[in-house]
Amino acid sequence: MKNYLKIEFPALSENETFARGAVAAFCLRLNPSLDELSDVKTAVSEAVTNCIVHAYAGKEGSIRIECEAEGDTLHIEISDSGRGIEDVARAVEPFFTTLADEERSGMGFTIMQTFMTTFKVESAAGKGTTVTMTKRFGAALAEGKGGLADAQ
Ligand code: ATP
Ligand code: MG
Repeated sequence: MKNYLKIEFPALSENETFARGAVAAFCLRLNPSLDELSDVKTAVSEAVTNCIVHAYAGKEGSIRIECEAEGDTLHIEISDSGRGIEDVARAVEPFFTTLADEERSGMGFTIMQTFMTTFKVESAAGKGTTVTMTKRFGAALAEGKGGLADAQ
């Protein structure tokens, strides 16, 4: 049986730390290196922050995270039912932001894309957004270094 994790929580900024920690704890069994784990935590933080600041923009709403472990790969989906993105191709470009006034740099999607193995955004205006990513853990083992689970 495949291992999975499903969580849903309100779009409050204090839940960002919790979300990132929950996904990291789920990943530990996949024996990630410290760097790989840190990549996943950063990508989750960026996706969850986007749900809070863009999808709901201070209004009430919920965020769902689904993770699945398959072999050495983490599959993760982060979704909201917020305002959606009209032009996804433009939104994922480096430095594109609709919140420049609030000193956002427009790098969240670029960071997710760089830190994860695969990355995809699906969105419908007025309905919500789903970010689907995978991370293949293996670099540490390939280099002969043990992952975090080996250290326990
Ligand atoms: P940064 O992440 O660097 O603080 P940012 O959030 O603006 O800045 P990205 O995370 O790359 O940059 O997102 C780019 C743009 O895509 C956002 O400015 C916003 O317009 C849109 N966007 C991203 N995520 C969502 C979402 N979940 N719902 C609605 N719009 C989104
Ligand atoms: Mg962002």
